[in-house]
Amino acid sequence: MQSQLPEVRISGIGVSPGIALGPIAFRAWATEEPSAEAIAPEQIESEWARLELALEATRQEIRSIQERINNDAGSNRAGIFDAHLLMLEDKSVLKEVRQTLEDKLICVESAFHQVLGRYADALSKIGDAYLSDRSIDIHDVSRRVIRNLAGFGPTPHATEPHVLLAHDLTPSDTATMDRDFVLGFATEVGSPTSHTAIVARSLGIPAVVGLHKLPAAMRWGSTVLLDGYAGLLIANPTAATLASYDEIQAKKAAANTKLAELRDRTSRTSDGRLITLSANIEFLQEMPLVNKNGGAGVGLYRTEFFYLDSNGRLPTEDEQVANYKRVAQECGNSGVIIRTFDLGGDKLFRSQPSDGAEPNPFLGWRGIRVSLDERDIFKTQLRAILRASAKEKVRVMYPMVSALEELLEANRILHECKSELESEDVDFDAEIEVGVMIEVPSAAVIASRLAREVSFFSFGTNDLVQYTLAVDRINEKVAQLYQPAHPAVLGLMKMAIDAGHEQNVWSGVCGEMASDISILPLLIGLGVDELSVGAGQLPMVKFAIRQLDYKRCTELVEEVFTLGEAREIHARSSVIAKDCYPELFN
Ligand code: PEP
Ligand code: MG
Repeated sequence: MQSQLPEVRISGIGVSPGIALGPIAFRAWATEEPSAEAIAPEQIESEWARLELALEATRQEIRSIQERINNDAGSNRAGIFDAHLLMLEDKSVLKEVRQTLEDKLICVESAFHQVLGRYADALSKIGDAYLSDRSIDIHDVSRRVIRNLAGFGPTPHATEPHVLLAHDLTPSDTATMDRDFVLGFATEVGSPTSHTAIVARSLGIPAVVGLHKLPAAMRWGSTVLLDGYAGLLIANPTAATLASYDEIQAKKAAANTKLAELRDRTSRTSDGRLITLSANIEFLQEMPLVNKNGGAGVGLYRTEFFYLDSNGRLPTEDEQVANYKRVAQECGNSGVIIRTFDLGGDKLFRSQPSDGAEPNPFLGWRGIRVSLDERDIFKTQLRAILRASAKEKVRVMYPMVSALEELLEANRILHECKSELESEDVDFDAEIEVGVMIEVPSAAVIASRLAREVSFFSFGTNDLVQYTLAVDRINEKVAQLYQPAHPAVLGLMKMAIDAGHEQNVWSGVCGEMASDISILPLLIGLGVDELSVGAGQLPMVKFAIRQLDYKRCTELVEEVFTLGEAREIHARSSVIAKDCYPELFN
């Protein structure tokens, strides 16, 4: 029997397709920094009892994650949790928490947070990489305990399948999400090009973001239906609603089966232009889907997720070699483009606090800037990429390059790594192809100079749009200004693609724009050679490419450069898209 409560619908932005139905679980709001609520002396014992319960819940939670990870061959995270369990038993820490509780008469959340925070700060200040990692572990444990204390129950992934609702989720929350239990998630904030949304698509978790404010009808445990296609959240769905969704799911499944038939067909336009269609991945575990959907290898491996997925512990050179080799082997002759760590922005590096200490993280210490400052980490990664290239087809690519100097310096370090490996008698591909991401307008403007140093360009349009239009890609308040079809964005792309082609440098697009089928005619008309999209989007994009006529697309591009408004350009492109593949818009 369905609940008698009235059905309530709210809409946001569907960022990861699929339907999820299940009980609601909340990710605790604002418990990261608990406020120091005063307590009376007679509450000390009951506060302490709450802590003991929360510690036990946290132990169980960690053990269950550990078990799951132990069964997951691709993961290297299980060992970290032993240390987390030990921290929960640490007598001197607990003694200090008790002392703080008694001396300050504040709630146990705050006492616990203060004591663990002191330990974490002390470790992070020592300036030792290993100890800094331990300080992240302390924060992680503290967060889990505080969430349990906050009365939200154990962090939902320890319990049963559910639809997770949260104010916001970080990319690393999403990356470490319990995939067996989280049926789907919805957040009050967020945007389609945030890394949280990108990871949801990669993991095949239906998701809706930008819900603004969750209504009171959304209660812990009550049934909710999440529609990741239309961006809807439906609390207490009626029997009629559920039946209509059964129909929608059956239709989608039939459409997907049809698209899957294209697996082994080429991604050529109807007049014969070949567009290499490869996949974006964040995790090794996505490779089976890439191959099932007929991807021509990997056009963007976001390796920073290897780091984020390890709870902020840097993978060693050998671990990276093993991981990169496995991805490359799965890619076969098409190969993999390994992007060096793109930490920063919304993907935080261990020495970047999550409390917004950098005033403008997307304009701050990010991507190649972090790598050039943290040479050891960069060299470890480059050596690993080179070693993985010995027998497999591997290319390397640098993110967030804004100046020629950065590219020259990165290539110089790559050269240094090659020399070291040579002297150590270690094999690698001496001719490894190097590419640069064009995601900062300055890089597009100097593309003809950059082209002399690389074999390919890859447009990171998620960032290129945000930096060209000064529109934060994760801020839904300005989402209507985030216009990939803006003539300034297309103009920069055209300039760089043409500059590349003059020097035999091919161009790909690996931002989310590559899987926006209404914009595809523009990308094809601009002359891109490659598109790299989420593994789940490969069949749809291949189908669309095959229906398009390259010549018609080039004419479209010529025409739109005479227009000024993004909306109009987008509309002209949509007309062609809907004419060529109307079935994809149903
Ligand atoms: C991009 O910016 O378009 C891109 C592919 O990189 P990321 O989304 O990881 O920033
Ligand atoms: Mg980017």
